[in-house]
Amino acid sequence: MHMPHDAGPSEGPADTGGTEEASIMNAISRPSGLNEQAATSPLVKVDNVTLRYKTQEMMITATRGVTFNVNRSDRFILLGPSGCGKSTLLKAVGGYLQPDEGAITINGRTVTQPGADRMMVFQEFDQLLPWKTVLGNVMFPLLTAARLPAREAEQKARHYIEKVGLGRVADAYPHTLSGGMKQRVAIARGMAMEPDVLLMDEPFAALDALTRRTCQDELLRLWEDTKFTVLFVTHSIGEAIKIGNRILLLSPHPGRVKAEVCDVDKINVSDGSAAKLEAEIHELLFAEEEH
Ligand code: ADP
Ligand code: MG
Repeated sequence: MHMPHDAGPSEGPADTGGTEEASIMNAISRPSGLNEQAATSPLVKVDNVTLRYKTQEMMITATRGVTFNVNRSDRFILLGPSGCGKSTLLKAVGGYLQPDEGAITINGRTVTQPGADRMMVFQEFDQLLPWKTVLGNVMFPLLTAARLPAREAEQKARHYIEKVGLGRVADAYPHTLSGGMKQRVAIARGMAMEPDVLLMDEPFAALDALTRRTCQDELLRLWEDTKFTVLFVTHSIGEAIKIGNRILLLSPHPGRVKAEVCDVDKINVSDGSAAKLEAEIHELLFAEEEH
């Protein structure tokens, strides 16, 4: 195991020294400097993963040689332009697709199929079962996948429905809810399973700006509460900086790792350093390929 060439601030706890500028610059490391020294045993390991779709006429390479590690309680962001393979990567971690090259492990076990240790939240509002109430939707995987007795499933479901602030509408059907409320139900459903990692694919992308912000704040509050691990996909740089503690930057199609930004949560949002980081990420994402 080799150490990164430049000793960045991510090595020590709560590094408050240095100028804001230096800390932002140091937070961005090239792929060769991924913080390998950090986790003793990462929760999710994506190791040199290439994912392809085979259609009748051709083969599409969605991502090539992607490597990253997610540690427990990370809010790990996959950030990149549309079509760079973010959803494909997330589906592979979910076990819905197998890598053509490389391997994905969770808790040291190779991912070969979907499992209750990984729950997905999608962008679409229609991910809920329309014939079930909010409570019914959140209880469903608890009954079918976790095989909890009905009473226990209901207790747990109600607990998480309260957590996302939907106690009032527990008996309502999805078609009576706003988009933001539906997404909260999907989040409650995922969290109620208490998975090892919550996989979120642009869950707020279809919401209006205000609701989106509220949902982002709420997700962060939930995280403060239980410190769950989340792998979160977005194409919004602002959202990535707001939600993440680590951001993996992916190049356009086919997606490859461009850089990783660490310690995002130490960036001060109010003093302009977030804007500066945003500009730097923008430049990195859209810079000419070097090779
Ligand atoms: P992102 O989520 O970053 O927008 P995707 O993972 O959805 O990107 O897609 C990555 C690439 O794979 C794109 O070029 C897309 O057209 C292609 N792709 C996605 N799904 C399929 C599929 N089911 N069959 C063939 N190609 C696909
Ligand atoms: Mg996508």
